[in-house]
Amino acid sequence: MLSLILSAIVVLISFDGLKPSQVTPEIAPLFYALKQNGVDAAYMEPSFPASTFINHASLITGCTTEEHGIVSNAFIDSKEGEFRMSNDAKWQECEPLWAAASRQKIKNASYVWPMTSGDWHGIKPTYAVETPTERKKADRFFRHFDNKKEWGQILDWLKLPEEKRPQLILGYFPDVDGAGHRFGPEAPQTLNVVKKYDRQFAQFLKAAQKLPYYNEIDFVIVSDHGMALGTKPVDTDIIFDPLKVTTTTSSGTYINFYTKDAQELNATKNFLKKFPQWHVYSADAFPKHWHYNNPRSGNLVLTVDPPYYLVSQKKLPKKKTFGYHGYDPQFPEMRAFFAAWGPHFKKTNLKNIKNIDVAPTIAKILKISFQDKRSGKPINSILSN
Ligand SMILES: [Zn+2]
Repeated sequence: MLSLILSAIVVLISFDGLKPSQVTPEIAPLFYALKQNGVDAAYMEPSFPASTFINHASLITGCTTEEHGIVSNAFIDSKEGEFRMSNDAKWQECEPLWAAASRQKIKNASYVWPMTSGDWHGIKPTYAVETPTERKKADRFFRHFDNKKEWGQILDWLKLPEEKRPQLILGYFPDVDGAGHRFGPEAPQTLNVVKKYDRQFAQFLKAAQKLPYYNEIDFVIVSDHGMALGTKPVDTDIIFDPLKVTTTTSSGTYINFYTKDAQELNATKNFLKKFPQWHVYSADAFPKHWHYNNPRSGNLVLTVDPPYYLVSQKKLPKKKTFGYHGYDPQFPEMRAFFAAWGPHFKKTNLKNIKNIDVAPTIAKILKISFQDKRSGKPINSILSN
């Protein structure tokens, strides 16, 4: 019987912190070859700030930072309180692709894609390997990964009979980011992690290729942000010793300040503006390309440029971090990776794409519609007819 029409399947994999410059024929021969035979974007523009939770929200919702409200890996919401690398889906203020899929009875699955635990307005992924929704320490998020199990689970979902098989599968792999922070983005230890993922993906594809419907599967491989080598520490004791304003800080590259008191705000701003080491922006004057006007962003944001990074001088002697991200996405070091191939994608190359266009493009392939407006648009030029 040749009349069988199979449903489209999209596998979306995120390698946290993978830089386009790390995908070369020597380091990642398979990723390099697959990219050349599909959609080969020189790079993908991340959202501000170029950090993990912000950009996974942008990738999966098609919304800008101000639209999805995940303004940092740590921020304060006036009603809900503090967000700190929570995996709870509820924090997203914009419908994620998997929730739109579930709402339209299109099966979907997530292997620890950030913020797919709990539920989004009562909606859950069809299948999910979850992490606890609340974490006290940032590093707990990264203790839930086992690469072999992860590829095996994605394969198991693909093998399900059609009535159970998810059409959208999300996978998340954190180790390039982890090594990039610890050793720096171009260090051999970091490039070895990229090599490891390229090898693991080769094994995964070899197994997936045995499926009779393998040729129906579209693959989209992304990262959330790049990584810069931090070589110039900027002392934050200057800020935190004299000032008592509430702040949140997560990645060593920016700080959000929260105060309702106009006098305190002015005093803080005037104090911070005395120092040339950083940029200070009021909420009414955030750079336009940040798309950052959300109450969760706070009243003031302080940023530094690479290779500067923020660190307490008291903690500096113990510091073991060399790679940093979270900078303005206009810095080339922050550029993210994008590649896609499969029956719905053309063989084409282009200079760059925006990460907010990824979810709308996949939504178009899977015929999923979002329940409300968002800034991201399908990239029609990369889709085959
Ligand atoms: Zn990340």
